[in-house]
Amino acid sequence: MKIGVPKEVAANERRVALTPDVAGRLVKGGFDVVVERGAGTAAFFPDAAYTTVGVQIGDRSSVIGQSDIVLQVQAPHAAELMQYREGGALVAFFQPTSEFLRQLAQRKLTAFSLVFLPRITRAQPMDVLSSQATVAGYKAVLLAASTTGRLLPMLVTAAGTLPAARVLVLGAGVAGLQAIATARRLGAIVSAFDVRPAVKEQVQSLGASFLEMAIEEHAETAGGYAKELSEETHRKELAFLAAAVKDADIVISTAAIPGKKAPVLITAAAVQGMKPGAVIVDLAAETGGNCELTEPGSEIVRNGVSILGPLNLASTLPRDASQMYARNLSAFLGHVVQDGRLRLDFEDQIIRDTCVTHAGEVRKS
Ligand code: NAD
Repeated sequence: MKIGVPKEVAANERRVALTPDVAGRLVKGGFDVVVERGAGTAAFFPDAAYTTVGVQIGDRSSVIGQSDIVLQVQAPHAAELMQYREGGALVAFFQPTSEFLRQLAQRKLTAFSLVFLPRITRAQPMDVLSSQATVAGYKAVLLAASTTGRLLPMLVTAAGTLPAARVLVLGAGVAGLQAIATARRLGAIVSAFDVRPAVKEQVQSLGASFLEMAIEEHAETAGGYAKELSEETHRKELAFLAAAVKDADIVISTAAIPGKKAPVLITAAAVQGMKPGAVIVDLAAETGGNCELTEPGSEIVRNGVSILGPLNLASTLPRDASQMYARNLSAFLGHVVQDGRLRLDFEDQIIRDTCVTHAGEVRKS
């Protein structure tokens, strides 16, 4: 079975779907692997690192046109779809529009989007959402630390004592927990808030304090995600957080509701109450932002407060983000390929949830 890895073409994408380490293991496992020339360069993996482990280097048209499975980070360009092998398979990490699904189906591609991977225990090794959120949570703190005008740890020096910076993390899911751990390592005093009470213990085990707000409704779904809050509770939350952000030097916000616009947690009025020099890194910028003032993809300053809305942050640490992504993909391949063929058992939740088109049909809208 032939696996193809094209170079990512999006302007802000530096990751590559397979790293030499993982590609080499697939070669040992009996796959033919072909990588487009230069596909790993932006992630610091030169072509030679692939060829030493038995991977072939090819041009784009042969990689996408002659592989049984094409592995990518982002979705293919619609304009290029006709070059993919009819009936071939594609695995990538993308939120498809219905028009794009129609085009994938028209090309008779068996396409899997790992955005839809169920967050169940046996899918954990394939969990791209978690691995990339981990990278983003870490990088968010570094961005904030290099934007704020102050040091994060407490320092006692001959030039006087500097107090530790205060970091507030909103949303303590995968990215939030990694942000807490990173800010703690840098010596900050960290607190966190989430609507799911279950995370309190996880926050505290990382050495941060958990901000408590009485929430009278059940804010968690059976699947472990947050639910959208009622209007009244949301109003209460906004007032609670407007008070909490006043003290913060850095706010990292990560709150998300799967499939919905991100909840607004920091209003423009709350930003006015923050200290000059404070920084907000809004990781929810891709889905609208947790701060009312966030401009996705930009950095703005309001009343001395910097508000960063980075997009595709994982791609800014392309080496390790690719390494984790590639391992996730390899685990996914291990699940869907058996004896050199695709095993399309739609009774299996992992396959059913991630397969968006097959045999000319759109399976997921
Ligand atoms: P996410 O990106 O959907 O949301 C980030 C965080 O924002 C969540 O903790 C959520 O509770 C919080 N949030 C949402 N609305 C909020 C609001 N109004 N105010 C404050 N916080 C708000 O979440 P995620 O990081 O993808 O993970 C969500 C859950 O999935 C976690 O419980 C995690 O343990 C679980 N998970 C399970 C598996 C698995 O078993 N395979 C893998 C990964 C994650």
